[in-house]
Amino acid sequence: MIYADNAATTKMSEAAARTMTSVMNDVWGNPSSLYSHGQKAKETLEKAREEIAAVIGALPREIYFMSGGSEADNQAIRSAAELGRKNGKKHVVSTAFEHHAVLHTLERLEKEGFEVTLVDVHENGIVIPSEVEAAIRDDTCLVTVMYANNEIGTVQPIREIGEICRRKNVLFHTDAVQAVGHIPVNVADDGVDMLSASAHKFHGPKGVGFLYVRRGVRLLNLIEGGAQERGKRAGTENVAGVAAMAEALKESSSKMADNAARLTAVRDRLIEGLGKIPHSALNGDPSRRLPGNVNFCFEGIEGESLLLLLDDRGICASSGSACTSGALDPSHVLLAIGRVHDVAHGSLRLSIGEDLTDADADYIVRSVGEVVEYLRGFSPIWRDLTSGKREFIL
Ligand SMILES: *Cc1c(COP(=O)(O)O)cnc(C)c1O
Repeated sequence: MIYADNAATTKMSEAAARTMTSVMNDVWGNPSSLYSHGQKAKETLEKAREEIAAVIGALPREIYFMSGGSEADNQAIRSAAELGRKNGKKHVVSTAFEHHAVLHTLERLEKEGFEVTLVDVHENGIVIPSEVEAAIRDDTCLVTVMYANNEIGTVQPIREIGEICRRKNVLFHTDAVQAVGHIPVNVADDGVDMLSASAHKFHGPKGVGFLYVRRGVRLLNLIEGGAQERGKRAGTENVAGVAAMAEALKESSSKMADNAARLTAVRDRLIEGLGKIPHSALNGDPSRRLPGNVNFCFEGIEGESLLLLLDDRGICASSGSACTSGALDPSHVLLAIGRVHDVAHGSLRLSIGEDLTDADADYIVRSVGEVVEYLRGFSPIWRDLTSGKREFIL
């Protein structure tokens, strides 16, 4: 099997899995218990908090453990909105290609009387900082812009946006789920107030993540109960998951530069090969993108059929995000960068991992080329395109 869907989830690293089992077996006490068996679990938790904080340039007490990226996004946005509500500021700036954990939370806020401005992400999938600045108003309580897009991989000018938010005195949250562990992220340098991350996107376990919250920013508690996570996130901590997350993050950070160089080379090999397929186009900026992300549109085909036929050839890929594939709506990300419905339907996302070889990449290119040609063979849209009844867009 060739796994090229690392943006959906990654395989746990051996070290993370080892850490997880050893904590589950040996440090299974409740961190809130006062006897030493419980305190050992508390120490494991706090050591993980220190290690994670060190990787992203935060203080340990600025890290709040949560169930993953979705919860962290909800928590960050809800907290900023609550602060805004108290101060009579009910306006949020974001983009149309955020993850649904952000977009759906913003839709909820709109129902509660907030206004949301979505800045343009342009054809290349990159936000322009001055446009974020222009969207900020006196009543803006939050800017939330993702670090790197999960479908097209484009990396946003977070540092510039952070600088603007600081100058304008507006809270800045970034969904960094695709960035952390893959590209350098430093909360101090980037000037972010809140940052979401999820372990299963960097070879840690599923169901655990963290939210960085700059000290002084008041977090809302969405889950009532015990006093865990400084009273902000009740519930007995996922000690084994957190320890494994810290292990995975240390490992991916230490290998980051080497991995990125290798991945970028394989990514560009894929982009070059797939670009030779007639009437195809790369989605998102060719270079300002995650080292492992490739996303193409092929005119005249359905992405879903392409995926199923690639699966028959042992290739795991995606047509958009895992959350929307299965639904027949085209990707909101591709629509946001201006792809029309028909073209957006024929999309393919390959999010490659460190183990993908050049030979694997060549096999993918060959397979995609053959499958696209096969599907076009009985596509009515393709027939109309080639007979001139419809005009080619790509
Ligand atoms: C995967 C993902 C999430 C959701 O994270 P979970 O841990 O699966 O809840 C949020 N944002 C982005 C950009 C993602 O890629």
